[in-house]
Amino acid sequence: MTATPSRTFEEARDWARLGTALLIGAADADAAVLDAPSLLPGWTRGHVVAHVAANADALGNLVHWAATGEKTPMYASPEERAEGIARGAVLSAAELTAWLRESAAKLEAATAALDAGAWAAEVVTAQGRTVPATELPWMRSREVCVHAVDLGRGVSFADLPDRFLAALCDDVAARRAAAPGPAAVLVPTDAEVRWELPGTGDPVEVTGPLHELTAYLTGRPAWPTTRYGAPVPELGPWL
Ligand code: ZN
Repeated sequence: MTATPSRTFEEARDWARLGTALLIGAADADAAVLDAPSLLPGWTRGHVVAHVAANADALGNLVHWAATGEKTPMYASPEERAEGIARGAVLSAAELTAWLRESAAKLEAATAALDAGAWAAEVVTAQGRTVPATELPWMRSREVCVHAVDLGRGVSFADLPDRFLAALCDDVAARRAAAPGPAAVLVPTDAEVRWELPGTGDPVEVTGPLHELTAYLTGRPAWPTTRYGAPVPELGPWL
């Protein structure tokens, strides 16, 4: 489907650190800013911050699982995930940003303490996928980088490394390929790669800079173009 060389474990760890720094910078704001809408429909910026902080705690459960063999799922229940997001509406700006920082630091420390055996251990994600613990830095990098953009505070996909964007497109295109949707071929103007989305209708070629196509593929505000002025296919939700 793509010519992108696979992402590496070390890259994913770097991207997780980069995204965390971008997110913490963008979330450092007062209550008026955090109470305002994010780019995610129905979510304030505070909801996004709370969700990412809760995600660090949840991934920490998988790190614990990998380190000890004790089965500790990301979230005890679907309600627990929703409760994490809801805390964004009740915590103060200072409490929210403190939770974001502390949860990220705790996850980073727990991750850094894993040995080779623990990294190879298998854990189960909130979506029910069984993955080796070496996938955890990628899962975290996806969360922090994409949600840093979602805050709508000046961070955009153009600020993220091309290799991260390509890895993210690989991931999302594979998921979309497994679900119904319109047929499309994504051809970046600035990268030697393409993604084919099988689906209904003749495939429409969607083009633009890699960062624009990443925004489009992940369902974020985006303005890619098509050949011959065909309408840009409307993609359904992802995840
Ligand atoms: Zn998320």
